[in-house]
Amino acid sequence: MSYTEEDYLQLSGIQHFAFCRRQWALIHVENQWAENVRTTLGNLLHERAHDITIREKRGDLLTVRGLWISSSNLGVSGQCDVVEFRLSPNGVPLQGIAGLWLPFPVEYKHGCPKNTDADILQLCGQAMCLEEMFCCDIPEGALYYDTPRRREIITFTDVIRQKVRDTLLEMHQLYQKGYTPKMLRNKSCNACSLKDLCLPTLSNSELVENYIAEALEEGR
Ligand code: SF4
Repeated sequence: MSYTEEDYLQLSGIQHFAFCRRQWALIHVENQWAENVRTTLGNLLHERAHDITIREKRGDLLTVRGLWISSSNLGVSGQCDVVEFRLSPNGVPLQGIAGLWLPFPVEYKHGCPKNTDADILQLCGQAMCLEEMFCCDIPEGALYYDTPRRREIITFTDVIRQKVRDTLLEMHQLYQKGYTPKMLRNKSCNACSLKDLCLPTLSNSELVENYIAEALEEGR
């Protein structure tokens, strides 16, 4: 399957979708957004990562910040925090620079590693875009968390790659339908940047549930 540019979704939305489908739809289908401490800190970290959109070359390592990426196979576009091009026999030629260079995406995240695969899916999606753009195979990348300040190396297995394809396909289907999934309270709600927009719905539904339960009690 191949998408045209007007159908491209934001690749970064895959992390919202993995966190909560409703959150993704509120942001990307309904264009609602609410800043909270978590997203503000995350944005600051990203701004720092994107700070200098330049190439830095040190020996066998070429670092590029803020590289725009896209994939017609996946129907997404976005921007990488950092792509390290490493001198490698499996790499590709780059204009004006001798040698073969293999891309290695690095995504910066606020906080500590999550117990979901949301960040991994986003990083793998970046690698799949880079593979399509540079015609190469990218076996791994890294997630950098600021608590603790360290990198986690991620291997892009067939299972993760398939999950990226399946997730993006589902996102395209929901986007085309303009459908926002119903509210389902889950363990992510407390940390959700959209809970103030979303939770009143929950409060209403809880009130209705309580009302019905009380009415049933009274009818006994
Ligand atoms: S408050 Fe909960 S259900 Fe609503 S968007 Fe956030 S995580 Fe999803």
